Amino acid sequence: MNSRRDFIQKISFSAAALPFLSLRGWAHERENMIMATEEPVLRVALMGLGGYANRVADAMKSSARARLVGVVSGTPAKIKDWQQRFNIPDKNCYNYENFDSIRNNPDIDVVYVTTPNALHHNNVLRAAAAGKHVICEKPMALNPKQGREMIDACKKANVKLLVGYRMHFESNTLEIINRRTKGELGKILFFQGLSGFKIGDPTQWRLNKELAGGGSLMDIGIYAINAARYMIGEEPVWVSAQEIKTDPVKFKQGVDETIQFQLGFPGGAVASCLSTYNMNNLDRFFLNGDKGFAELMPASGYGPIKGSSSSGPLDLPHRTHQTVQMDEMAGIILDGKQPIVPVDGEEGLRDLKIIAAIYEAVKTGQRTDLKV
Ligand code: NDP
Repeated sequence: MNSRRDFIQKISFSAAALPFLSLRGWAHERENMIMATEEPVLRVALMGLGGYANRVADAMKSSARARLVGVVSGTPAKIKDWQQRFNIPDKNCYNYENFDSIRNNPDIDVVYVTTPNALHHNNVLRAAAAGKHVICEKPMALNPKQGREMIDACKKANVKLLVGYRMHFESNTLEIINRRTKGELGKILFFQGLSGFKIGDPTQWRLNKELAGGGSLMDIGIYAINAARYMIGEEPVWVSAQEIKTDPVKFKQGVDETIQFQLGFPGGAVASCLSTYNMNNLDRFFLNGDKGFAELMPASGYGPIKGSSSSGPLDLPHRTHQTVQMDEMAGIILDGKQPIVPVDGEEGLRDLKIIAAIYEAVKTGQRTDLKV
C-alpha cells in the first residue's frame, strides 16, 4: 500500500546488509528495489545547460522518482558532454530550433526550463504546445501578463506547470510554517527577509535588462517576497519600496542594485525586506508573532538551512534541495500530490504581481495597493 515507506524500509534493510554484498550485487539489488516500488518515474529533459541545470542534474542522480533522460541546448559541445555524463541517448537531445518535435517523443514527460528569465515565457509556451509538463525556474517570467499566458497555455494543453521553488520542500522552512499554522507563534506581527549577494562579472545576463527583466529583485529578492507570503501565510495588500543605486555603470537603467520594500498583510503583519546585488552574507528570514519567533540564517541558500526559535534550535537534517524538490514534483505531476506550499503557475504569478508592484512603488514613491 505505502510503497514509499516500503522502499525506504527496503533501502534501510539492504544498507544494513551492505557489508555482505559486493558493490555490483548492491547496485543490482538497489535497481531491483526501485523496480519493486512500482512507482512511475518522472522522465525529465533539462533546457538550458548552465550553472543551475548542472546542479539539478547532479541532484537528480539521488532522486527516487525523477530521472534525467533528455536535454535541450544551444551548444552542441554541451550536448555531447551531457550525453556522456548522464547516459542520454541521441533521440532525446534537442536544440532550440528542433525542440518542438519533442512532441513526438513518448519517453520524455516534462521539460525543466533553466534558461535566463526572459526566455522562460517562450520556452514554456513551446513545451506546453508539445504536450509536455513544464517545470520553470524562478522568476517564472518577466511580468504578470507573461505569467498568465504561460498558465493559460498549460491549461489549454492539459499539462502541469510548476515553478522551481525548492524552499517549499525544505524541512526547517516547513517546520516554521507548521508551527505558525498550529498557532504556536501566536498572532503574526512581523517578517524580515534579507536576500542578497555581491554579483561579479558585469557582462553576465543577470545584469542585462533584456534577459533578466530587472536586477536583484527578479533574481534574489524574489526569495524574500516568496518567503514573506509562505511564512506569514497571507497575501500582501499593499507595498512600498525604495531603491538605492551606488554603481550606475554596473547596474544600468532598469537593473536594480538594491531595493528595500515593505509589504502589508490583511491580518496586520508587516514584512520589511532587502534585496541586493551589492552585499554578501545576506540570507536571513525572521518571523515574529505575539507568542514566539523563528529565524533562519542561512534561509534560502543551498543549505544546510539552520536557525533558532523561541522554542529552541531549528536544525532538521539537510537533504539536497533539488533532490527533494524533484522527488516531490514527481509526486505532484504523476500522482496529483498536493504540496504544503503551492508550486504551481498561480504561485509564480503572485510573486510576479508583487515584483511589478514593487517596481511601480519605486517609481512613484507611493504606497501601492495590491491584489494578488
Ligand atoms: P546560466 O547562465 O548558468 O545558464 C543559462 C543557460 O541557458 C545557458 O548556459 C545556456 O545553455 C542557456 N541559454 C539560452 N539562451 C541564452 C542566452 N541568450 N544567454 C545566456 N544563456 C542562454 O544561468 P543559471 O543556470 O544560473 O540560471 C538559469 C535560470 O535558473 C534563471 O532563471 C535563474 O533565476 C534560475 N536559477 C534558480 C536557482 C534556484 O535555486 N532555484 C539558482 C540559480 C538559478 P545552453 O548553452 O545549453 O543553451
